[in-house]
Amino acid sequence: MKQVGVLALQGAFIEHEKMLEQLGVSCIELRNKEDLEKPYDGIILPGGESTVQGKLLKELDMFDTIKKQIEAGMPVLATCAGLILLAKDIKDQEETYFGTIPMCVKRNAYGRQLGSFFITKEVDGVGEVPMTFIRAPYVESVEDGIKVLAEVDGNIVGVEYGKQMGFAFHPELDGDLRIHQRFVDEI
Ligand code: GLN
Repeated sequence: MKQVGVLALQGAFIEHEKMLEQLGVSCIELRNKEDLEKPYDGIILPGGESTVQGKLLKELDMFDTIKKQIEAGMPVLATCAGLILLAKDIKDQEETYFGTIPMCVKRNAYGRQLGSFFITKEVDGVGEVPMTFIRAPYVESVEDGIKVLAEVDGNIVGVEYGKQMGFAFHPELDGDLRIHQRFVDEI
């Protein structure tokens, strides 16, 4: 039976767990180093605050193990702050995190006025989905090998790179299960 590890240090991880539950997929919360030894077949990196998540991952000594798991081909679904954790480059910021997708993301890319918004748009291979953006990043540039899955107003908001899928919005918030289903199908 498939089991998904959900990074549960900070942010919107419970919402992802609820989506998995609806799909009948069991999950375990990744809260400390020991949890990373448990059996799981894919990882969800939730939204929240990437700087806080990055700091906690390092303080709790979870960072290197998860990075290695991703590099070894563990399927990943990353949303919002999770997408930032996967980026090789972060605009105007020196510190990066896992860096396993060769792309540059811009944090809080929509500015203050448009910090949060909702739209319905196409995700490649999934169809039109509801997208809730909350102080979201977007992907400013991608290198070869990255498949763009979604764009809003000419900005990239969804990518796929090998077994890693990342979105700037929050597919866990609008009750549409198709993105999680697609991730689970990958596992
Ligand atoms: N603004 C957050 C960051 O920079 C991401 C926001 C989110 O995950 N909803 O990490």
